[in-house]
Amino acid sequence: MSGEGAAHPGLAPAFAQRRIDRAIAAYLGLALGDALGATVEFMTPREIAAQYAVHDTIRGGGWLRLRPGQVTDDTTMALASGAAILQSGGVDALAIARAFDDWMRAKPVDIGNTVRRGLMHFRATGLPEVAPSEHDAGNGAAMRVLPVALATLGLSEDKVRTACRAQSRITHNNALSDSATECLALMVQDALRGADRETLLQRHVIPLVNRHSEFEFRNAVPRSNPSGYIVETMQAVFQAFFGTSGFRECLVDVVNRGGDADTTGAIAGMLAGALYGQDALPEHWLATLDPPTRRTCETQARELLALTQ
Ligand SMILES: [Mg+2]
Repeated sequence: MSGEGAAHPGLAPAFAQRRIDRAIAAYLGLALGDALGATVEFMTPREIAAQYAVHDTIRGGGWLRLRPGQVTDDTTMALASGAAILQSGGVDALAIARAFDDWMRAKPVDIGNTVRRGLMHFRATGLPEVAPSEHDAGNGAAMRVLPVALATLGLSEDKVRTACRAQSRITHNNALSDSATECLALMVQDALRGADRETLLQRHVIPLVNRHSEFEFRNAVPRSNPSGYIVETMQAVFQAFFGTSGFRECLVDVVNRGGDADTTGAIAGMLAGALYGQDALPEHWLATLDPPTRRTCETQARELLALTQ
């Protein structure tokens, strides 16, 4: 993006400021979506409607019995990855795997089966990459991709994809997971540069669907109860993201579909934050978000972007 500054030197600070604003909003969006969705994880839309009418308050609870504003593995793994990237000055699979291992030892509030298996593999072998598996098509690598997206902004698309796979394959080595994770990182990066929703759809999502028709979402029935399968997760996220026109509306839409709602919320929140910016984040949600988590999200967003300068 040096071209922006070269062509319009007077606009460069505004572009830089927009990127910082949207990077912070993406990070906070991830945490807000996680905290909002966790309350209704594993519930059906019918159960959610019976209990809350519309679930649109960060209230904690859920099967994990969370405090209001507490986040789960989606956010804490991203923060562990972000800290490792900052410490090593770039995306290094071994450093991230060690950070994930430390994260698991600290007894996180939740952990996915594929993530646990991948980290046990790392402990046993020292290798930060699991073998390819057609069964490991969960959403656990996609949900934590944000720090890699921020740390590689400005690199070539090939290098972004390589960095995404390095972090993903610590636990998930699967073509559907890889493609979805890379798509999300590239969407976040383009949103930070000012791309609109239609551009994100044409440039990244349609190519993903053309490559893996499983991800088709426009003509699919509304995805309810999305599971941890990356295809169902992405269909729910895409339907909510492209079917709404605001941050709050997008997150309320996706989490009220139930299922793996903390992760659909986290991924949708990351995308919607990157697109709509900090002004769109509801103040009462931010006020409820766990304060240390909020501060770390803001700090990591700034510092990860600075790696790319
Ligand atoms: Mg979770």
